[in-house]
Amino acid sequence: MYNIVFVGAPGAGKGTQASMVARKLNMVHISSGDLFRQALEQGTELGKQAKACMERGVLVPDEITIQMVMERLSAPDCEKGVILDGFPRNLTQAEALDSALSEPGKTIDKVIHIKAAEAELIRRLSARWLCRQCQAVYNMVNSPPKVAGKCDKCGGELYQRPDDKPETVKKRLGVYFAETAPLIDYYRRQGKLSEVAGEGSMEEVTRRIVSALPEEKLVTR
Ligand code: AMP
Repeated sequence: MYNIVFVGAPGAGKGTQASMVARKLNMVHISSGDLFRQALEQGTELGKQAKACMERGVLVPDEITIQMVMERLSAPDCEKGVILDGFPRNLTQAEALDSALSEPGKTIDKVIHIKAAEAELIRRLSARWLCRQCQAVYNMVNSPPKVAGKCDKCGGELYQRPDDKPETVKKRLGVYFAETAPLIDYYRRQGKLSEVAGEGSMEEVTRRIVSALPEEKLVTR
């Protein structure tokens, strides 16, 4: 079992990289933001509870978020380990995760912090479009789809996240620096943190992340 957490500001490339590394290592990728967006699309009770917070760019209350992620983590496909992206997002969530994984052999093994300059984060978020069907991410400047408005992978419709508008982006960055950034020290103290530069091509960043993971874990997959 090997569990990895991806931490990084909105726009750092956390979701894209978590999905690329998960595919490469044949691991399950769990994105709390994707779970909330799916719940919103499906109009479930969870989606209704999360909607207002997501629109404002603030964190959904911990009880709701922790319960959603713990439920997903208890599914059988997570037994061999997971890549968590967007969770934990504050110390309460990190402690809840640590106590959920307190059984022998279960732990967070590695935390990857993807770093990027603030100006770059804003530039990336304003050019970001997503597939409504498979959540693939496009950047209209650096990596646009082959056909405008359509996903290259599944043909799904592309859309811009409402919380990627400039006012909400500012709010989300503020929330990140105030609430999520302290996790970096939390995991550094536990000796689990690896910092990776988020600049360069997607493939380059993936290579940096994979080389921060212990070799024996990669060979057994
Ligand atoms: P993301 O796709 O990770 O940028 O998340 C989009 C939005 O979902 C965030 O701005 C929050 O409102 C909510 N969200 C995602 N993950 C969490 C989390 N771990 N804790 C609280 N809210 C979250």
